[in-house]
Amino acid sequence: MAKIMAVNAGSSSLKFQLLDMPSETLITSGIVERIGMKDSVFTVKLNGQKIEEIIDIDNHAVAVKMLLDKLIDLNIIASFEEIEGVGHRVVHGADKLTKSCVVGEEEIAILESIIDLAPLHNGPNLVGIKAFQEILPKIKQVAVFDTAFHHTMPEESFMYAVPYDWYERYQVRKYGFHGTSHQFVSLRTAELLGKKPEECNVIVCHIGNGASICAVKKGESVDTSMGFTPLEGIPMGTRSGNVDPALVEYMMAKKNKSAKEITNYLNKQSGYLGVSGLSSDSRDLVDASLKGNHRAQLAIDVQAKRIADYIASYYVYMEGADAIVFTAGIGENAAPTRENIIKRLKVLGVEIDPERNNCRGVERLISTDDSKIKVFVVPTNEEVMIARDTLRLTH
Ligand code: ADP
Repeated sequence: MAKIMAVNAGSSSLKFQLLDMPSETLITSGIVERIGMKDSVFTVKLNGQKIEEIIDIDNHAVAVKMLLDKLIDLNIIASFEEIEGVGHRVVHGADKLTKSCVVGEEEIAILESIIDLAPLHNGPNLVGIKAFQEILPKIKQVAVFDTAFHHTMPEESFMYAVPYDWYERYQVRKYGFHGTSHQFVSLRTAELLGKKPEECNVIVCHIGNGASICAVKKGESVDTSMGFTPLEGIPMGTRSGNVDPALVEYMMAKKNKSAKEITNYLNKQSGYLGVSGLSSDSRDLVDASLKGNHRAQLAIDVQAKRIADYIASYYVYMEGADAIVFTAGIGENAAPTRENIIKRLKVLGVEIDPERNNCRGVERLISTDDSKIKVFVVPTNEEVMIARDTLRLTH
């Protein structure tokens, strides 16, 4: 038995789970928020109880030290050495870090060199790794990349039809994200189908604030909807997903804004929020649409159509699919959205059972017995996937 910590560091936050491996049992979880600001919030969840403290935390290293001291105070660990490995979620590994790895000096240098590919995420992820290295110098830190699972994509899927030297000189290609989730969910789906991963084709719909679809053929990602950045693909909470790239120049002229500002609109003011003008939160849109709000319904429909388009295209690309799976905040919880997507795929012989679909946050088969493709809800668990890789690389 080993205690492994899974960490997700953001610019001012640090989320963690401590897991007992290989049993994959959650020991405790928590989050430190508002790091570097006044009144940081430190929350630990233990045995269903929530312990919250408000205290100034200057930086991530202080947050890590506080967190570990707290684990000792709460008798969760007797000493820091009990933690046998720390796994960090890192958003982008580019084409240089293509699978989970123990982080040494060389890996830090590579991560620093690719910060500009995902500045909002990789920078903070790296700060998290360095903070743990400082406080736990003897314990191995492992990086687990959102992009790694997609490195099996064939050239024809990841290559953009742009001048080839953009790819060779500037690493312009599709990378894909949410890989840890797509991998976890597709592995679990194979188990639910009673098959080995290499015996089935699965289409995973990870629909949360960020959302992406993945074609998993015989256990490997062969295409996914996010691209060079997490902006490509389907519309999301605030992201547009695919648009005509010529729109950027046109809107720069119309609004007298820079390319950066227009890209910011596409990332932060679009998707559910942009179309509905109401909210980026799916619950608000579902509520408003039930009250007859047209633009809320439209925002949901625009996304549902695009998701159905991707599913159909991946079904054809993989020459069939054994299962379509929903996961993440919306995929796990929003029954009407799942129904809205699947009803558009009748031609594939797939059908949802409304009673089975009437569920939230649970693992379940939701298709009818006659459906030609099985449809499941499978709650994602990126932390377990991170802990599995960390255990493997530290033992
Ligand atoms: P991310 O991790 O990308 O920030 P999540 O996977 O947590 O996002 O998903 C957040 C989304 O899930 C929000 O739009 C939220 O409204 C939605 N969601 C959560 N619970 C429900 C629910 N019961 N019904 C509909 N949507 C829900």
